[in-house]
Amino acid sequence: MTDIDKTTTRTTCPYCGVGCGVLATRHGDGTVTVAGDPDHPANFGRLCSKGSALGETLSLEDRLLHPEIAGRRSDWDTALDLVAGKFTEAIDDHGPDSVAFYVSGQILTEDYYVANKLMKGFIGSANIDTNSRLCMASSVAGHRRAFGSDTVPGTYEDLELADLVVLVGSNLAWCHPVLFQRLEAARAVNPAMRIVVIDPRRTATCAIADLHLALKPDTDVALFNGLLSFLVESKSINKNYIKRFTENFHKTLEVSGPCEIGAIAEASGLERQDIALFYKMVARTEKTVTVYSQGVNQSVAGTDKVNAIINTHLATGRIGRPGMGPFSVTGQPNAMGGREVGGLANMLAGHMELGNPHHRRIVQDFWQSPVIADRPGLKAVDLFKAVGAGRIKALWIMATSPVDSLPDADGIAEALKVCPFVVVSEVSRSAGTVPFADVLLPAASWGEKDGTVTNSERRISRQKPFLALPGEARPDWWQMSEMARKMGFGKRFSYRNAAAIFREHAALSGFRNGGTRDFDIGAYKDISDAHYDSLQPFQWPQAARSAAAETRFFADGGFFTDGRKGRFVPVAFQAPRKRERTWPFILNTGRVRDQWHMMTRTAKAPRLMAHIAEPFAEIHPEDAGRLAIAAADIVEVKSQHGSVLVRALVTSRVRRGEIYVPMHWTDRFAARGRVDAVVAPETDPHSGQPGLKFTPVALARADMAWFGFAVLKERPEGIDADYWALAPVDGGYRLECAGRNRADFQAIAVSLGASGEDRIRIEDTVAGLSRQAYWQDDLLQAAFFFSAGPVQVSRQWACGLLAATPGRKDLRAQILAGRAPADRPDCGAIVCSCFQVGCNQITEAALRGADSVAAIGESLQAGTNCGSCRSEIRALLDDITRDTSNDSDIAQAG
Ligand code: SF4
Repeated sequence: MTDIDKTTTRTTCPYCGVGCGVLATRHGDGTVTVAGDPDHPANFGRLCSKGSALGETLSLEDRLLHPEIAGRRSDWDTALDLVAGKFTEAIDDHGPDSVAFYVSGQILTEDYYVANKLMKGFIGSANIDTNSRLCMASSVAGHRRAFGSDTVPGTYEDLELADLVVLVGSNLAWCHPVLFQRLEAARAVNPAMRIVVIDPRRTATCAIADLHLALKPDTDVALFNGLLSFLVESKSINKNYIKRFTENFHKTLEVSGPCEIGAIAEASGLERQDIALFYKMVARTEKTVTVYSQGVNQSVAGTDKVNAIINTHLATGRIGRPGMGPFSVTGQPNAMGGREVGGLANMLAGHMELGNPHHRRIVQDFWQSPVIADRPGLKAVDLFKAVGAGRIKALWIMATSPVDSLPDADGIAEALKVCPFVVVSEVSRSAGTVPFADVLLPAASWGEKDGTVTNSERRISRQKPFLALPGEARPDWWQMSEMARKMGFGKRFSYRNAAAIFREHAALSGFRNGGTRDFDIGAYKDISDAHYDSLQPFQWPQAARSAAAETRFFADGGFFTDGRKGRFVPVAFQAPRKRERTWPFILNTGRVRDQWHMMTRTAKAPRLMAHIAEPFAEIHPEDAGRLAIAAADIVEVKSQHGSVLVRALVTSRVRRGEIYVPMHWTDRFAARGRVDAVVAPETDPHSGQPGLKFTPVALARADMAWFGFAVLKERPEGIDADYWALAPVDGGYRLECAGRNRADFQAIAVSLGASGEDRIRIEDTVAGLSRQAYWQDDLLQAAFFFSAGPVQVSRQWACGLLAATPGRKDLRAQILAGRAPADRPDCGAIVCSCFQVGCNQITEAALRGADSVAAIGESLQAGTNCGSCRSEIRALLDDITRDTSNDSDIAQAG
């Protein structure tokens, strides 16, 4: 193991479900730098752009530091007295189901464990759900239907050992970048490896795909049912495995029917030959891994999609062996840990079943609790419907912002307004939930928290503190334990530290288990504080008295159903609902490469904001042409629930009739960018997971009379423009804005904070153009560029003005001219965040002969640090090769 000195702490990245190990080093000047942990088995030293920038996100700016009641500073004792009193009062008056916790895949397993124990074992309700419901609940439901347990059978290594990797609804390159890098590296070693991407969009992941199947949204079940039938008809199934280890095969085949490629092509919108090629690739490749994530899970048919995929692996016996298996990758850093402690409204702790009386008895005996919830609680979407209907009298929201991330987000805000008592545990004062809180509780953040997380391959790693808790911030587990104590349950919540909770969690997993349940880490039930402190990442299961081992599940059966057989699940394809005239487009939502969730952390790192600095809608060129939408116009995307105003990004990456809008922008960074206000609150009937990738919407160009771009030293407040998007840059902010009414540029600039005597201004009223700038003490305060159409100014040059040496007179001429000097050409929109290399530089290098990602790296360094941008560089090179320069389109949004 690599030696580290005492200024460096081994911990885990707080972002995605890859769960990379991080070395965080504190320096004498108070700064922290991070590096990938070369010894961590998830990443072996790699980090993506988000992970690499973690050190830049640790400032206390925007932190909640003290408890508050009704907006006034309070103290922990008073605040928690009030919380415990209000919860107790609601339970006494209206029963245990009148209270609820809504928690998060961001919290640690120990936090989750205590919250779940308090709600299910002591309050006696199962009303605890989590934002992980939005991430992977369909995988949980699909696993439980097929395996009898929520088990991910494989490991990351399987992607490297496979000869065929099928990525379904998974933009691995942007959403699980280090896993993508491992896949890329494995393919470099094994050029025979084939990669298929199944996704309606041509995502960055397609850069390494041998075949991209851009199917119609929500038609995956038709495609995989067809695959199952094809495998049977081509005699590619494993009869021995099916017979010995599974059940329900023939009934499932009856539902999937014969393999009619024509009908599948019709349903999915794919070309027949592409479907046939995909089926043949799977049929002839024993070592096949099918990776799936949000494109599968976030659907009203998500659970059926999961089972349609798993059916094909059960039929071929390609499961639990090296290089084979269905593989769900989670979005959040601790979605898996939450599942392990039962942090979902329909599960019990230790992967036990709420509906199973034997399991309820085990958990209640172990907890020695007065009650145990005996029916499922409210899942996320239904929970907030109950809040809106007045059935929830006291609600505690922890580390998540449902007013930004749940479907019908405006409806969630309305629901919170009518909830009699709302508690919010938060890190960030600007979180969307904060204005709704009766009680605000300051939580510990990454770098301060102490506990464990589980990544997508069942690997438990430590998240360790390397910073002191600021102000009165406290860990979430402590907050819940104190609340339990104040409710009279102190004896069962007297944890001294996170290690004590982990010991209990481990002990429960092994309690009356004997191999009957998949989740067992009983080997750690007596772990000492010191051992916990230095705990190395390990995969479960690790039962007591068994040798530590890295393992896969189900190669030889051993499922967790009643008869220990794997279940084929018949899933009939239901065609997605037809488009209506009023809502002719389908809205798909998701992530961008360098942002995380609602940007409360990633927006603190200017270099991450440089990649894509405003919300956008990807629109197919034919749709754009029909609706007279030009690149960089402002467009309105509207459903019956709400609307957003975003920048048009015209690209053939999306299919005709479909739009893609990222999920990250909130009211803090854009005027109307909260896309979940548009998303319909429809859910999968089995998992309760919302269909975040399929909302019928209308699209129209928003006529703007003026457009503006500004760089400002100070954050502008009360921005009076119909459209705006704000992003931090080094030394200040950048602002995109536009308005519907005739422009008075001087008034607009003043409203955005322009002031002072030292100013320059040039205006062309006929062309509708204005450029202005203001200085104070020779320091540029703001520069504004207005025009009648989208502003044609190099963003990178303009952002650099804020960092210019004071007193530089040449800046004035540059600003009035609206361009950088000729010897400093525009680098274009940033592709490589680490070295701030733009698309224009990459294009020029390519035209000079750098014709590979490696050659671009040698020439410009781009892609040579974290590697997250390599797929975009490859896509740019492909575009140049194909001479389709109109599609080098990140630039349009940046
Ligand atoms: Fe963090 Fe990136 Fe690793 Fe995900 S891939 S855990 S975001 S460093």
